[in-house]
Amino acid sequence: MTRKLCVAAGCDDLALPGGSRCAYHEERHIARQRERRAKAQTSEAALVGRALYADQNWIRASKAFLRRNPLCHDCAELGAVEPATEVDHIQPHRGDVRLFWDRSNWQSLCKPCHSRKTAREVLHTKGG
Ligand SMILES: [Zn+2]
Ligand SMILES: [Zn+2]
Repeated sequence: MTRKLCVAAGCDDLALPGGSRCAYHEERHIARQRERRAKAQTSEAALVGRALYADQNWIRASKAFLRRNPLCHDCAELGAVEPATEVDHIQPHRGDVRLFWDRSNWQSLCKPCHSRKTAREVLHTKGG
């Protein structure tokens, strides 16, 4: 039985039996595919998230929520009274529609508090 050469450019190792790449390049190929899939999923979640915020229902519901809860939750905990301008998701929804619409997961925040919390979440994501 003749074995083919690895299809990777510049590689003159023999391909695995029944495959088209050597063990090394097959592994790299699989890793790259996995990476691409993970990236696609992340951007999909981001897209879903953006669509959710553009939803008229969300705009209406979040405005109503702010009317009922007009003060910043974080500032209130520090004893400060600050008008809230944004609705935050206590537990990041990451595109999860159920979490997104769960009103028990909403809180009113002022802009500085919301930015601070979002920055913290981004750092958390990066750290794993
Ligand atoms: Zn190879
Ligand atoms: Zn605040």
